[in-house]
Amino acid sequence: MEEKKKGKRISGFWIARIIAILLFAGGLCMIIVNSVRDEESPALIICGCFSIVIGFIVLMFTLLPLMQKGMIKLNKKIIEENKEDLQDLSTTQSEIMSKGVKNISKAAAEGVQEAKDTKYCMYCGKEINTNSRFCQYCGKEQK
Ligand SMILES: [Zn+2]
Repeated sequence: MEEKKKGKRISGFWIARIIAILLFAGGLCMIIVNSVRDEESPALIICGCFSIVIGFIVLMFTLLPLMQKGMIKLNKKIIEENKEDLQDLSTTQSEIMSKGVKNISKAAAEGVQEAKDTKYCMYCGKEINTNSRFCQYCGKEQK
């Protein structure tokens, strides 16, 4: 179903493209005929220019998807050619990222650990180890 739709769209583009080329060529012919003829015909020139402009615009529009396709192809090719470098880059990036995350989580864990392992002396208010019975600053016993 989808493939059929795609095929239809492409053929539509082709028809538009052919019409555009015909318009363009027709316009050129009109101008050439006009210049070859002894008598100048303004109508022919106007018609010719009009056809060329319309043909050109239609051609541009029909070529747009083709150009996009080309760009995508080019990008793919560039990516394909630099695959190893890109992989290296992404590996390095992810390494940096994971290192950063590790450091942050380590710091957080240490912080939690520290917070858990310390208390404040009942007498002098200084930070001391939870497990220590005596304050290392004032020497008083903790209850
Ligand atoms: Zn103390």
